[in-house]
Order: sequence, then structure tokens, then C-alpha cells
Amino acid sequence: MPWNNEYWEKEEVLPKKELEELQFKRLKNAIKRAYDNVEFYRRRLKEANITPDDLKKPEDIAKIPFTQKEHFAQNYPFGLFAVPKEKIVRIHTSSGTSGKPKVVGYTAQDIDTWVNMVARCLYMVGVRDSDVFQNMANYSFFTGGLGFHYAAERIGAMTIPSGVGNTERQVQCMVDFGTTAIHSTPSYAMHVKEVVEEMGVADKLKLRIGCFGAEPWSENTRRRLEDAFNIKAYDSYGLSEMNGPGVAFECKEQQGLHIWADHYFTELIDPKTGEQVGEGEKGELVLTALTKEAMPILRYRTGDITILETDKCACGRTHPRLMRILGRSDDMLIVRGINVFPSQIENVLMQIPEVGDNFQIVLTREGGLDEITVKVEVRDEIFTGELWDLKELQQRIQRILQKELLLRTNVELVEKGRIERSMGKAKRVLDLRSI
Ligand code: ADP
Ligand code: ZN
Repeated sequence: MPWNNEYWEKEEVLPKKELEELQFKRLKNAIKRAYDNVEFYRRRLKEANITPDDLKKPEDIAKIPFTQKEHFAQNYPFGLFAVPKEKIVRIHTSSGTSGKPKVVGYTAQDIDTWVNMVARCLYMVGVRDSDVFQNMANYSFFTGGLGFHYAAERIGAMTIPSGVGNTERQVQCMVDFGTTAIHSTPSYAMHVKEVVEEMGVADKLKLRIGCFGAEPWSENTRRRLEDAFNIKAYDSYGLSEMNGPGVAFECKEQQGLHIWADHYFTELIDPKTGEQVGEGEKGELVLTALTKEAMPILRYRTGDITILETDKCACGRTHPRLMRILGRSDDMLIVRGINVFPSQIENVLMQIPEVGDNFQIVLTREGGLDEITVKVEVRDEIFTGELWDLKELQQRIQRILQKELLLRTNVELVEKGRIERSMGKAKRVLDLRSI
């Protein structure tokens, strides 16, 4: 049951001071639970010469060693669980985008907390029991399938577990069932958009809301999705280690993603030094899970690069906001000394009207120098035009990339459909340098 017409739970608008008090209480509790029940944390805290009682104020968290992705591999599969196996009612794994999948477990209480957290997000962007919610996400190990599914059901929306793939059928469902809200990865949404255009059914859609996440995307992609589907498109951030989706989500203001401070303690660090960055500076997101029973996680280095905003949001929620996640620190490309994330390239490309909906970055090494080639699909009508126009377009895209990202690239124009479509997370970069 929602708290009222606007907010799913009253915690969303707790006065800041109360929210901070609740957060600190839960933080102490989470550290104690980890220490008492997980050998790994007990050992790490002992090595750092601290006990849970040393946490006198929130800043003291900096004394606790970071948990890293490799610790999941070292404790694979169940070594980080804090409860006996009988208490675990479900496991998921991460998608395995970088490295061995991480296994995560949930108690019945964890599932309930998580479902509420995602419901909070969906309710925030306007999903109600009158909506038809089509969940175009993978329903197996990936947390985005079941995570959204149960949340939409909890709100009471008519929920369609359509999964990924079979895209024409997906679109037909949207038309036939009058789908009003969708969830998918942004790259799959771009593919659905193409199929909607091919089928010529855009004016038969009743969509209002799109929730897109699990991978980086850009403002200009948002614009394209909003125009194509006639929706408002919201950014959804989460990771399996922290439950899954629902960790942070945009509100209707679309000015960053509220990160739920009653469930997570947030820090932003310099990935090189591990020191906290200043307010408004870019850094790596470090999260401590406050309410997870099966698997408390302390100071987890997500690898995700973002900026934290703490001033009040016009929506009334008191929780801080993450700015759009640029990508993982290990996704950052360094090409001849220039740092760039694939999501920045995407943003530049998606503002160019002749550019289609898909692209790929290919890295090669020639004569000891890194070369970056951006393969760009162009719209059908452009490809059938004069050869001269294509050359002009190719050079223009190169110029715009160089101007906006200071990056010299080789742009290669290809026909629509030449780059593989993604059903889940897109694989944007093909690195041929080590082959
Ligand atoms: P994997 O790390 O194997 O892909 P997950 O499926 O748990 O496993 O994915 C979580 C990761 O996905 C995050 O750490 C982040 O890198 C990325 N991610 C999730 N949501 C977003 C988003 N809205 N924007 C950018 N990246 C995102
Ligand atoms: Zn807000």
C-alpha cells in the first residue's frame, strides 16, 4: 500500500536530520552484523585493528577496508553470506560483464525490502495500479527481471513478464495490451524503437513511462527514446551486489538519481588514492548496504564513476542524488592520452540527426599507436544518397567528436543493421589491441 498519492513510503521525505540519524543507526548495525557473522569481515576489521564499537560518527567508516570485486571471487559462491543456508530463499548473480559472476543471496526479508525499494522507484515516476507494465528484461540470473517484476506487481500494475528477445512480438503486445510503462536496458530499448518504426505502429502505442538502466546511456539517447515512444524516460541504477535495481532512480525532475539513504551509505572516492573526493567532484561510488540480512556488504567499490549532489530536490525527497553514471572505471578508454567513456561518445553521436541508433568502438594498435575507429550506423535514407554526402557526413562526425571530446577518431559509416543488436547490455567496445 502506498503511503500517499505522491510517495510510496514515508522514508522518502524524512527530514534530512532524521534520515541521517536513521542511516547512522543502521550503519552501525550493519557493521556489527557483518563482523559477528561473516568470517571475511571479522578478519578484515581485525587486520585493520578496529571493532564495530570504534564507529562513533559516520566519517569513521573510512577506517574500514574496502570490499572489492575480487573478494566475491575469493569467497565464491556463498562465503559472504551472514545467515545459514536455510534462511536464504533466493540467489541471483551479476551479469558477469567484467569477470566471474558474483553470487548474491536474499532472505525472505531481503526480498521484501528490495521489492519495496523498486516499487518506491516505480511509484516515484508515476507507475500506478492502473498501468500496464511490460518488463523487457532477462528473467533468469539477472536481477533486473524479477526485481522489476515483483515491484510492479506490488504496486498493482498489470505486469507483463515479456523478457527479452522476440522483439516483434514484444511490440505487438504493447499494441494489443495497451502497455503504458516499459523497462529494459537502454540499448534494447533502442532496438525496440527500430522495430516499432519498421512495423509502423508508433501511433498505436499508449506508452507514458520508460525505465532504462543496467548500463550507461546518455542525455541524447534519452531524447531519442522519449521522442520515439512519446514517453518520459528515467534512468535506473543498481547492481546485484546491492540487491539489484532500485538502488538509485531518477524522479520526475530528471535531475539525477535519488540514492536511498535509508538503505545505502554512499561515499565517492578517488579511484587511485581511495580518498574521499570533495562535494560536486567526480569519483568512484562506494556503497555500504544497510539493510541486507543475507549479505551485508561494507564499503563496496562499485567501479562506477559519478558525481554526488546533496541539495534538496524539487520533488521533495530528501535523499541525495547521483548524476548520470559515466561508466565503470575499467570501461574508460585511454586513447593517446585522452580519457573517454563510451557513454560520452554515445552522447555526441546521438545528437547528430543522420546517425542511426547503433554504434561500436573498435580499438586497434598500429605501429605502437592506439587507433580508435567508431563504426556508426546511419539512417537508411542517408545511405542511399550520394556518395559525396556520405563522405561529408563521415568527416563531420569526426570533426564533432574531435571538438567535443578532443578525440581524433576514424569514423566508418555502415548501413543500418550491420552492428549486432543487444538484448541485454550492449557491448560497445571491441578491443583488438591484444590479439
Ligand atoms: P555486472 O557488473 O556483471 O554487469 P550487474 O548486472 O549487477 O552485473 O550490473 C551492475 C552494473 O551495471 C553497475 O555496477 C554499473 O556498472 C552498471 N549499471 C547499472 N545501472 C546503470 C545505469 N543506470 N547507468 C550506468 N551504468 C549502470
Ligand atoms: Zn527528486
